[in-house]
Amino acid sequence: MYNNFKKYLTEEITNIKEAGLYKNERIISTPQSADIKVQGGDNVLNFCANNYLGLADSKVLIEAAKRAMDERGYGMSSVRFICGTGDLHKELERKISDFFGTEDAILYAACFDANGGVFEPLLGEEDAIISDALNHASIIDGVRLCKAKRFRYANADMADLEKQLIAAKDCRFRLICTDGVFSMDGNVAPVDKIYALAQKYDAMVMVDESHSAGVVGKTGRGTTELYNLKGEVEIITGTLGKAFGGAVGGFTTGKKEVIEMLRQRSRPYLFSNSIPPMIAAAGIAMFDLIDKTNELQDKLHSNTAYFVERMKAAGFDIKPTESAICAVMLYDAKLSQDFAARLQQEGIYVTGFYYPVVPKGQARIRVQVSAAHEKEHLDKCIAAFTKVGKELNVLK
Ligand SMILES: *Cc1c(COP(=O)(O)O)cnc(C)c1O
Repeated sequence: MYNNFKKYLTEEITNIKEAGLYKNERIISTPQSADIKVQGGDNVLNFCANNYLGLADSKVLIEAAKRAMDERGYGMSSVRFICGTGDLHKELERKISDFFGTEDAILYAACFDANGGVFEPLLGEEDAIISDALNHASIIDGVRLCKAKRFRYANADMADLEKQLIAAKDCRFRLICTDGVFSMDGNVAPVDKIYALAQKYDAMVMVDESHSAGVVGKTGRGTTELYNLKGEVEIITGTLGKAFGGAVGGFTTGKKEVIEMLRQRSRPYLFSNSIPPMIAAAGIAMFDLIDKTNELQDKLHSNTAYFVERMKAAGFDIKPTESAICAVMLYDAKLSQDFAARLQQEGIYVTGFYYPVVPKGQARIRVQVSAAHEKEHLDKCIAAFTKVGKELNVLK
């Protein structure tokens, strides 16, 4: 059989390549940081990591992880409910709920698992999930695993959300779910308006704060801080793999009965290993760090404001953003790829996105700003964009 299957796979892969959608991975041989070395090239400034607070190579986190390895060993060799719960797991869960102002939290190996395991245990056939059209793949997959009726509204479109809430009015429970920040545009979900509609139509709200935690809100507590809704949103999911250190790990936090039920019934929690002690310890150290001082959050916010303002002044078309994601609109797919390749020659590492990752004719370069960037990094990036922009006739 494998001969036929091999032929089928080879053809499919050829199709992917011919459509220009084949993903090549560039290999990094330094720690993740502002200044990295990509194999086969010179050092480049990194503007495409989710390392928003610059903690991926933090000495504080590394030391905490090393100490935990010495004191608690390497792995847990168990799921949580058998013998995989350590004191560090409990402490990290407490830190997460303290940070977000929620009642309890539950850890997963990744936010992909948190989203994969949040809907099915909570909702059934008589319920409704009302989901933003641009929600992350892991929410889409999580919703697929659940028997609840599915409703979809156009990205951040409150009139459409209202329509869907009316359509779902006969269901037993209604859950609206949204990303906090949409990763391709950098726009923040209007969680204040979503929450108001939820009140009006008797629904609950879930926000995935993966790109907003550590970033949005004065102290980086995400959309519920930005909109003064701390403790109000029923369910928040998030990752430790972006602003919060960038290793691995995910969580769900919110109402205590929700978390209690997830501990009983959420399949990725019940049937998958618990995170290693070093990840839990580094997570604890991370929350202590960003609780103690707002330095990193402040630096990220001022870096982002500086970058966006200068790029606009240079003449670039930038999507409105309230996050650390800055979408530089180029519209043409080939141009986005040529532009990104030229930037890499100029020592700036960014990624160009085009259809089907973004809508047709909406190709762009996504720049992700970090607290790890110094002013001279930002200036070098803006200068390179300006140089290549003129060269490729994007700028007059
Ligand atoms: C990155 C991301 C995830 C996945 O997080 P992992 O912890 O890497 O699995 C989930 N949801 C959103 C919105 C994300 O951006």
